[in-house]
Amino acid sequence: MRTLPVCFALGILLATACSSTAPQPSAAAAPPPQARAATPPPPWTLTEPRIREIVGRVRAGRDLTPGSWPNGARVAVGLSFDVDNETGSLRDNLQSPSLLSQGEYGSRAGIPRILALLDRHKVPATFFVPAVTALLHPDTMKAIAAPGRHEVALHSWIHERNSQLDEATERELMKRSIDTLERIAGRRPVGMRTASWDYSPYTLGLAREFGLLYDSSLMADDRPYEVLANGQPSGVVQLPVEWILDDFPYFWMDRASTVRPTMTPDEVFSIWKAEFDGAYEERTLFILTMHPHVTGHRSRIAMLERLVSYIESRPGVWFATHEQIARYAREHGTTRPQG
Ligand SMILES: [Zn+2]
Repeated sequence: MRTLPVCFALGILLATACSSTAPQPSAAAAPPPQARAATPPPPWTLTEPRIREIVGRVRAGRDLTPGSWPNGARVAVGLSFDVDNETGSLRDNLQSPSLLSQGEYGSRAGIPRILALLDRHKVPATFFVPAVTALLHPDTMKAIAAPGRHEVALHSWIHERNSQLDEATERELMKRSIDTLERIAGRRPVGMRTASWDYSPYTLGLAREFGLLYDSSLMADDRPYEVLANGQPSGVVQLPVEWILDDFPYFWMDRASTVRPTMTPDEVFSIWKAEFDGAYEERTLFILTMHPHVTGHRSRIAMLERLVSYIESRPGVWFATHEQIARYAREHGTTRPQG
């Protein structure tokens, strides 16, 4: 049985459910004894120090919400697009031309609509791009990077899950992805969003090693915060994400399963509007994650345009790239410790 495509979007949350659909290893492919010996102990046997060690590896540190955003704005708005395209299928070895065409739609039909919308409203956005997408779609990269208003940032090599990699492989793929985006987009990326928001024990350390300013993959807050590494400030700014602020769970479908889009664009609009209204009241941050091959469809672009128009109608809104938000938060963020 093939791994369901939806698994790649819901990778972290549904890791257990998705892995249950994968082929079961035959007796001949049974793991060697030393691998079986490495099976972790049942979680109810973990000691409190061990539990603290596990949750403390990557943790939320100080709140980085500034007293106000540039020009006295009360909320920062970061629109982001994860340009997964074909990589969502390729990373699961799914090579059906039909599936791949569903990803191709992202660059061919979705990106032009998204860029036109952003141009109409004169707002910047951040595009998180798997390096393989950049290789397959150089014209898309030119269109995103050319106006000089949008940001191109890291989103893996081929949408691989970091938690399945050893440290050396993850380092090599991150380096290759940074170099590839720099070569094709013309500027070295300063931020990342991990594919499927998946983290390995090495991901944060590698982000620091490569000097990244920010990450946008974790979910410990609505506000920007500094990431702690084993209890120590890492210097990496976190611009947090959430599934309710992602188009995928609402709009994706898998033909072979019962997974279907459950929301109309109007219903998703109402959730995202309420999330923005909350961020506006709290004077903090609104980050939205979308995918060109998902939100790039006509009915959803119309909904996004309605949302952008609504946000623009409120006074004191700062639309910015993730890089701009992260730099400002790092420089002007508050110093309140978070517990
Ligand atoms: Zn992605």
